[in-house]
Amino acid sequence: MKSAAIDEVILHLARLPGIGERTATRLAFYLLRASPQFREKLAESLKALSQVSFCSNCRTLTEESPCRICASPVRKPELLCVVEKPSDIYPIERLGKYNGTYFVLHGLLSPLEGVGPDEIGLQLLFDRVSRQRPEELILALNPTVEGEATVSYVAQKLSNEPVQLSRLASGLPMGSELEFADQITLGKAFEGRTKLR
Ligand SMILES: [Zn+2]
Repeated sequence: MKSAAIDEVILHLARLPGIGERTATRLAFYLLRASPQFREKLAESLKALSQVSFCSNCRTLTEESPCRICASPVRKPELLCVVEKPSDIYPIERLGKYNGTYFVLHGLLSPLEGVGPDEIGLQLLFDRVSRQRPEELILALNPTVEGEATVSYVAQKLSNEPVQLSRLASGLPMGSELEFADQITLGKAFEGRTKLR
């Protein structure tokens, strides 16, 4: 009395981070009891993930390139916010106070782990700055050693460019993840951002 269909679902769910075989089994049986509509919606949403790729302009993950933020006429090109990963855009957007543009690095400088400027598309960022000519470049990077190294590198590379560099105000605990910061802390850090020079 084994079902190949159930085994297959357990096998895939168990590959997700933090989900062992036992949780995968529990979830598979939950899905089996759930409505067929729910299962179909879930399957459809997972399938739609295959359409997601990088925005050619800001490198966030999107089905449309340029993404909706880059294509929006109400977004101010004078403001360019640099984040480590696409998921960092969500908490900033949830604040509802930022109406500029973004650039996603997909990583931070980490010489010890062999992550250099090319690995995180910094040249693309510098090209974008030359093209877009933002008034302010906001480095909304996590307050970690790698975040600091990246801020220093960008500041040094853009030292002759007519752009104001700023970073999030301290308040985000050292080593913390922007993605998980609470709205009040992130809001304050964003509002009170400090100029780098
Ligand atoms: Zn974009």
